[in-house]
Amino acid sequence: MFGGKDHIRVVNNHLYISGADTVEIAERFGTPVYVTSEDRLRENIRRYHRAFPDADKYFAVKANGNISIIRILAHEGAGADVFSAGELYLARLAGVPREKILFNGNSKRDEELRMAVTSGVRVSVDSEEELETLSRIASEEGKSVEVLFRVNPDISVDTHPKIATGLKSSKFGIPAKSVKSIYEKAMQMDGVEPVGLHCHIGSQILDVSPFSEAAARMMDLAGEIAGIGGDVKLLDLGGGLGIQYDPAASPAPSPQDLANAVLPVIERRSEELGVRMRLILEPGRSIVADTTILLTRVNVVKRAHVTFVGVDAGFNVLARPMLYDAYHHIVVANRAGAEISDKYTVVGPICESGDVLARDRALPVVERGDILAFLDAGAYGFSMSSQYNGQPRPAEVLVHDGDMELIRKAEDINALLACQVIPPRLV
Ligand SMILES: *Cc1c(COP(=O)(O)O)cnc(C)c1O
Repeated sequence: MFGGKDHIRVVNNHLYISGADTVEIAERFGTPVYVTSEDRLRENIRRYHRAFPDADKYFAVKANGNISIIRILAHEGAGADVFSAGELYLARLAGVPREKILFNGNSKRDEELRMAVTSGVRVSVDSEEELETLSRIASEEGKSVEVLFRVNPDISVDTHPKIATGLKSSKFGIPAKSVKSIYEKAMQMDGVEPVGLHCHIGSQILDVSPFSEAAARMMDLAGEIAGIGGDVKLLDLGGGLGIQYDPAASPAPSPQDLANAVLPVIERRSEELGVRMRLILEPGRSIVADTTILLTRVNVVKRAHVTFVGVDAGFNVLARPMLYDAYHHIVVANRAGAEISDKYTVVGPICESGDVLARDRALPVVERGDILAFLDAGAYGFSMSSQYNGQPRPAEVLVHDGDMELIRKAEDINALLACQVIPPRLV
């Protein structure tokens, strides 16, 4: 009913997620609240394992930084792609082994590089200058750090411009033509050991052909590096596989479709070059997005030039509609089986005209007090939330076989004050 999501069902007119009644969840934990299906999460990572039995999967922590979620993925054998000291800390606390962590970033602080070195994780180096800094820091610490190079492959993808990351004009990565010389330089330097290449071409990509294009370009580079005696042991193709947000759209490509697009390219070129390398993938969205729904309560229904539905979550809780004009499917959770009645524009409580979660959406009758569920909110949902407008962040709940467990408490008003300091002269 919801585009192949068997963990989301309608039972007696209520929306259920993995056997739990969402109306009951909203009553028990309050709204807004993010609710994640553990069963779906495990299923999603297992689909990647089946499609890529010989590759490592590093979950992109920026998509969802909840420690329980990362821990479940770690138990399922996933590693982590981290973009800051904070994400590295979360991944380690969640139990991800250091040899399965890659520290990424285009603008890393010295302290972050030092933390990567002392934690013993690999680093994806984004520039020649960063390579020099890292070499100095590793030498100071008396350590050697394994590095991959983030390549800018100059590949355009059909996605929102804010999430295309492999264009020539993008801030990420080293231009492909400079990679060989930097690799060669690194082979001579102290404190760093070049072990591979890395790229990430963008996010919410619904056609697998750019991935095979990227794989071919990376294999060309691996060939150039082999030619100068370099050893490319690891090839990291990043994340970016899209999901089907709109149940009326066509299904998104699966991890198996991705495997069919990239594995033959890598195998053929590896054979030609006589090299063997381990593949790494960094899926974020395609692991967590569809595991999670956001439940909100309707505060007001206002008939103006359109009919507005004001709910208790805005772009402070779910930023994607405002940031990327993203579509999230909406279900009236307490009337989930009802017929469509009208078109509604669903807005949040934030004091900005841009705080619109959905425009002209056909829904059953909506009334004050109803619970609206936004589907596919597990990626770049909570992790992008803010306290704007004095709004504490919401709770997160994990559902497993019908049982509900809190995995993050809702913030209270004290969270708004947590780091504020009043100088004595103002008291
Ligand atoms: C964001 C990001 C990912 C994850 O992208 P998804 O589209 O969520 O799969 C992977 N790798 C890097 C380097 C990223 O920046």
